[in-house]
Amino acid sequence: MPKARNRFERSNQVLAWLKHEWPCGRPVRLRWRKEIKGGGEQYFGETWRDGRSLVIDLSRRRNRHWATMVESLCHEWAHCVLWGSATIEHNPKCNDHSPAFWAQYGEIIDRWSHDGGAEQANEFGVS
Ligand SMILES: [Zn+2]
Repeated sequence: MPKARNRFERSNQVLAWLKHEWPCGRPVRLRWRKEIKGGGEQYFGETWRDGRSLVIDLSRRRNRHWATMVESLCHEWAHCVLWGSATIEHNPKCNDHSPAFWAQYGEIIDRWSHDGGAEQANEFGVS
């Protein structure tokens, strides 16, 4: 597989790895946006529902480094797995970072960092 040359290509590999390891059963689209603002804050990313699909938005401004991007994408993927909590991140009424969410996120990040996830992602395409 081709090697990712930048964070955008790498995000496609990471997303493909996440889809492969924790299928969420729904179409998920990833979009890079210049920035994501809400309530006077800058967000790293957000996940929202589009019909029966999900959309992950990542902020170019906040995710300048690959490591940050990976953490953000894994965070958003945990929302995708827990479909019920996949709502607009900065809506205080919907914002759900329950213990179940953090357990899912922890499992993903642990696999990424300590169980070959970063290497496995290299096997996926960059686009
Ligand atoms: Zn979140």
